[in-house]
Amino acid sequence: MSYCRMNGEDSDIYLYNDITNGRICMSCPMIGDGEGHVLMPNAKDAIAHCKKHRELGHKVPAYAFTRLREEAKEEAIKQKKWMKEFFAMVKKNDKKKKDRMRREKPKIDKIMKQLEKSSTNKQG
Ligand SMILES: [Zn+2]
Repeated sequence: MSYCRMNGEDSDIYLYNDITNGRICMSCPMIGDGEGHVLMPNAKDAIAHCKKHRELGHKVPAYAFTRLREEAKEEAIKQKKWMKEFFAMVKKNDKKKKDRMRREKPKIDKIMKQLEKSSTNKQG
């Protein structure tokens, strides 16, 4: 499904969504002689790309931005959810690590005592 097509009216670019690859700016006027395509997996990147087009004076319709911003919002929610799950996992691992450290603590105390002893011996 396309966000906008080169139509000689309100759009100088052809941007569409390829489900498997992400957003594609076909024959992007910013790439060489306009024979290159630009692939943008994230909506956020596509918005930045469209903004660059506008800065160069290329027409990009407002409805393309509207749709991309909606998708960026959805992506941000998905990302937040993923981060939450990820940190929950990290936290779990941290607890295990903490338990292991607690078990190893007596050994550390012993080593510290030995180090203390050896250093006082050197001094004395
Ligand atoms: Zn482009």
